[in-house]
Amino acid sequence: MDVTSANPKPKTFICVECGSYSALKFKKYPSGAIKLYQCVTCGDVVDKYIEYDSVMVLLDILLHNSKAYRHVLFNVEVKVLRQLLVLSILCDTYMRWAAFHQFCFDDSSLSNNWHLVLELQFYKMLGISSLELCINICVTSVIVSFANRKKMSFSESFQSIPKSLLMSSYGKLLALAALVWNPDNSYWYLVLTKMFVITSNAEAIKVISHRTIAESVAYVACGVLAGFLVQDYLLSTKLADWQFTKPA
Ligand SMILES: [Zn+2]
Repeated sequence: MDVTSANPKPKTFICVECGSYSALKFKKYPSGAIKLYQCVTCGDVVDKYIEYDSVMVLLDILLHNSKAYRHVLFNVEVKVLRQLLVLSILCDTYMRWAAFHQFCFDDSSLSNNWHLVLELQFYKMLGISSLELCINICVTSVIVSFANRKKMSFSESFQSIPKSLLMSSYGKLLALAALVWNPDNSYWYLVLTKMFVITSNAEAIKVISHRTIAESVAYVACGVLAGFLVQDYLLSTKLADWQFTKPA
């Protein structure tokens, strides 16, 4: 029987059950029927999520299911990484800007140019958020690459870790929704969302690096701490003073 490969280009996939490599995910027959490939290591199908509805995959990802993370990080070709990067920076910027406006900004102390000041603050938050995300990803990638140097080459690590961190930061969208729908109580939403993003990042790093969840949380925490220290330094320097002063 003539059997065509589901993936004409040679590519390695990952068994979502055990994490072993596999040449194919499924076979596609001329009639249109497909047969899921079985993993030679564990005997289960390589990627059961091929037959799942995307909503079910999303639910498993929200529940931090390692199998769903393997499916998305290894077996799905993602073409929206740049869009994810821009979206992640904009979410961080808006969260920071909205929190500043809500808790630190006093409209009464400013003149009629307050809207211009707020706009300039947004651009400044945009720069700080971009730098914080860049440092966060770089620090996490360096630490994980060094810790995993015997299992994965540095080039492979620096290719897969930033991608996994970006893809697992989808939780930032939840904070954006909370700020729009419930701005009065957004502080705890922001805290909980940040925790969710960190645990999601840790789950992705665990899947990528084959480390324990405790080690993965520690790696991600180092990156988050480095990014936080940089943004805290920038906000506390004279460079940030212009945004708190009354415009002329
Ligand atoms: Zn397997």
